[in-house]
Amino acid sequence: MEKEQRRAQRQARRQARDEARAKRQYERLRSHVVNCPECGAEALDHMTECPKCGAALTPSGYKPMNEKTKKTLRAVAFAAGAVIVVAAVVIFMFC
Ligand SMILES: [Zn+2]
Repeated sequence: MEKEQRRAQRQARRQARDEARAKRQYERLRSHVVNCPECGAEALDHMTECPKCGAALTPSGYKPMNEKTKKTLRAVAFAAGAVIVVAAVVIFMFC
C-alpha cells in the first residue's frame, strides 16, 4: 500500500517537472516569435521571409557570418579535411 503511494508521488513529481520543462521550452520559443508585417502570420525572428506569404522579414535573432570569418573557417575545414584524407591514405597504404 505504502509502496503504491510512493510510486504515485514519484509519478506526480515527474509529471510536474515535465510540465514545467515543456512550459519553459514553449516560453523560450514564444520569445522568438515575430509577426509578419505584411500578413500578420507568426514567424521566428531568424527567418528572412514569411513562411505564409513570402514577404521579406528582417531577421533580428540571426546575423549572417561575416565574409572574412567564413573564408577562414572554410580554409581551416579544408585543411583539416585534407589532413584526414592524407592520413587515411597513408594508413591504408602502410598497414
Ligand atoms: Zn507574411
